[in-house]
Parts: sequence; C-alpha cells; structure tokens
Amino acid sequence: MSLEILEKTEHNLKFIVDGISIEMANAIRRIIISEIPVMAVDEVIILKNDSPLYDEIISHRLGLLPLTTDLEVYKLPRECECGGYGCPLCQISLTCEVTNTSNTPLQIYSGDLNSNDPKIVPVNPKIPIVKIDKNDKVIIEAYGILGLAKDHVKWQAVSNIFYRFYPQIEFDDSKCAKCPDKCRISRLCPENLYDFSNKKSPVLVEDYWKLCTLCNSCQFECPEEAIKVYWKDNTFIFSIESDGVLPFGTIISKTFEIFLEKIEEFVESLEEVEIES
Ligand SMILES: [Zn+2]
Repeated sequence: MSLEILEKTEHNLKFIVDGISIEMANAIRRIIISEIPVMAVDEVIILKNDSPLYDEIISHRLGLLPLTTDLEVYKLPRECECGGYGCPLCQISLTCEVTNTSNTPLQIYSGDLNSNDPKIVPVNPKIPIVKIDKNDKVIIEAYGILGLAKDHVKWQAVSNIFYRFYPQIEFDDSKCAKCPDKCRISRLCPENLYDFSNKKSPVLVEDYWKLCTLCNSCQFECPEEAIKVYWKDNTFIFSIESDGVLPFGTIISKTFEIFLEKIEEFVESLEEVEIES
C-alpha cells in the first residue's frame, strides 16, 4: 500500500491510495465520517436569555459549533473513570455572559464563549450565535464532551469525504489521420481533457486523471475508436474537507487505529465461535 499527498491546505486534503481494495477504501471513508471522536456541546444551561430566539434554538446552534479537539487528554464519557458523570478528563465547560450596553443591537459570536480549557475553543471565533437589543442580557453555561458522528452529526470530524477511481485513458492518435470529423471528442468532453488547438490531432492534456469523471463520452463518441477509458484497480483518489476540529494527521492516524481495533475485535469474536463440523 502506498499513499501520495496531492494537495494539503488548512481545510482540504487530497491523496492517492494505491494497493487497497474498494472494501477497505469504503471502510476508511466510513470510519472517518462516523467513528472519530470529536468535541461538541452536549448540554446547555440557559440562565438568562433576553434575545428574540428560543432557548432551544440557541442550544441547537451551540451544539453545532465546531470545537478544537484534543484526543490525547479527553476520553469518551463511557470510557472515562468517572463513568460518564462528567469530570475534567471527559468534559469541558463554556460560559458566556454578555450584556448589550450600547444603543445598537449586539451580535454574540462563538468567540464570546469562554472555555475552561484554552485548547478546546470554537474553531472560528466569528460564528454568529444570536443578536441582542440594547440593555438585553444573555447568560449561558454549556458543556462539551467527546462523541461519535454515528450518534449525532455534531460530532462529525470532517465536513465531507469521498473517494473516486483513478482514471486511465489510452489514446491512439495514429487513428486520427483518416478521421473525417474535426475531432468531436475535443468539443464534447465536459472536462476539456483533449486539446485540439494544433488542428492536426488532439492531445490528451497532462494530469487528465485529476479532472476526468469517467463519463466515457469520449470513448463512445470517437468515430475511429481511438480511445479506451478505464480505471486502475485498487487505486483511489480521496478528498477530505475539514472544518478544523482535528488536524489531518490525527484524523488519518486515528482512522487506522480504529480500523485495527475493529479487525482485532472481529478476530477475537471469530475465535469464540464454535463451528460444528
Ligand atoms: Zn470523566
């Protein structure tokens, strides 16, 4: 198995994985989207709310705030020594007390929440929560815990993840010489993978595999049957979009940690099964 990073920015990661089956690629996708623990607000106490929004709407907004997560320190409540009651190893608190002393409406942002752990804070301090009028006041206490997206989407570690096949195109341009058409495929391809600017024969653009969606229209439409489109077996191009709750390195290493745990659990369960011969 090999892995090649194509693109890495603060919020996007693209990489090619070679040498795995589609079942394994899908297992990786499913673990990343639903089984990596991240921090999110799970309990809210509203002590004062003069805003026009109901308490429930504000609580819902707080629940969906992406919070930076530290998996080295925090544990899932069910795995914590406190038994899930709530302690510094499995719970963080966020408080917010804002009074609008100005004469204009005041917007309360995620950055107005004060965390008891400076490492666990909203990913972006400019996420609007609620707007209050002059002399209005909001006092909130919120508690965050680690959770899994298979229980609630607010605990999803990534915004999006998908993979696609690695496209391969074999193009025999020697067949173009006798073609009566002025290269229909260079006009038809939705991703403009064929360059026909030299007017003699089309050229397949470099890095076509980054854009090709395997629609096969070039293969079907070429009158000379000069094109063959297929995909590489066991090679996948992954794209991950993150809101920044966890670094990509942690997401990938945690994914394989969970993957191996699942395999071990499966093998142990299999060994316990008695098969009658
Ligand atoms: Zn605890």
